[in-house]
Amino acid sequence: MKISSKLPNVGVTIFTVMSKLANDAGAINLSQGFPDFDVSLELRELVTKYMALGHNQYASMQGVPSLRQRIAEKTKELYGASYDPDTEIIVTSGATEAIFSAISCVVNRGDEVILFEPAYDAYAPDVLLAGGVPVYVQLKYPDYHVDWNQVKDAITKKTRLLILNSPHNPTGAILGSGDMKALKDIVADTDVLIISDEVYEHIIFDGQRHESMARYPELAARSFVVSSFGKTYHTTGWKLGYCLAPKQLSVEFQKVHQFVTFASHTPTQLAYAEFMEKKEKYLTLPVFYQGKRDMFLSLIKDSRFRPLPCKGTYFQMLSYEAITDEKDIDFAKRLTTEYKVAAIPPSVFYIGGDDHKVLRFCFAKKDETLAKATEKLCKI
Ligand code: PMP
Ligand code: GLN
Repeated sequence: MKISSKLPNVGVTIFTVMSKLANDAGAINLSQGFPDFDVSLELRELVTKYMALGHNQYASMQGVPSLRQRIAEKTKELYGASYDPDTEIIVTSGATEAIFSAISCVVNRGDEVILFEPAYDAYAPDVLLAGGVPVYVQLKYPDYHVDWNQVKDAITKKTRLLILNSPHNPTGAILGSGDMKALKDIVADTDVLIISDEVYEHIIFDGQRHESMARYPELAARSFVVSSFGKTYHTTGWKLGYCLAPKQLSVEFQKVHQFVTFASHTPTQLAYAEFMEKKEKYLTLPVFYQGKRDMFLSLIKDSRFRPLPCKGTYFQMLSYEAITDEKDIDFAKRLTTEYKVAAIPPSVFYIGGDDHKVLRFCFAKKDETLAKATEKLCKI
């Protein structure tokens, strides 16, 4: 039987590859992004409480009403934006599903979609599955800022969508208010839509403000704003996220969402809805993760790795130029098997495999894990 692949150039995601290598090699895993510390006991107990209370059947397709209400309140309070919980907020099975559903509902065959490299690895395959054409604009190394003139040049009559991600995985760069103004001007007279991947919205450092697309009415009117509870509550394995979009876009989004997952895990949604009332849990995340970043940076200070700026996310990019000129994939593998620390090679997030001799390290780890890992890194 002959099967023609719809994604002939797509292999296994780097996160699975590196985590497997780390496990096989007995290495400390700073590659795939997930915390190694436990979820709040209170939150875990809320999930089991709602299971015990019998909330074990399908949730409403858009998500349980109390959770949508909490999301609406948070978005209003933090970003001054009003989304109707009944028609403009949809709970999804992780941000991954939200991104897939958003791309699938608006991208037609031949439509161009602008992606910024290094680009989170789910974007391009989703665009290709929808029959779209990824068009790449590169963030400028070493601070990975957007060159808006290049974006302007990349927009054509066929451009349907632009996918932004701030705080940015893997680089830790963030968009500032100047970026938002430039974006607003560029898309003003076009029909270009936006997916704003904001899964790290609460992990932003040094007193910087998260520039949610929701803050800017002209941009919000053409945007799917995507977030993930996994990042905010240290629960990446629970796979719940959400999408905010004006009614007209949400209607289309829902047409896909209803046949991808229909609805997401009911007791977990109810638990988050109750837990979200404790606003300090997400409002203190910047301080918590900035502490981790600073600890990681101070522990590798005397190593031969050189840190790049990290303004948000739980990832730190380190240049290894002073150590070797190996390709980042080769060095990431050797670092895992020989030195027992796993990291992500960012070249996999470029269609052309661009290699700046940097690796991405996840610092969402216990202090003792960071101490052990950096001890090894300092010996290289
Ligand atoms: N977008 C980015 C930039 C991410 O880093 C992740 C994280 N894994 C996702 C989307 C997917 O989030 P989720 O785990 O909620 O599907
Ligand atoms: N977003 C996570 C990371 O960047 C991994 C997500 C996944 O494994 N699919 O490491």
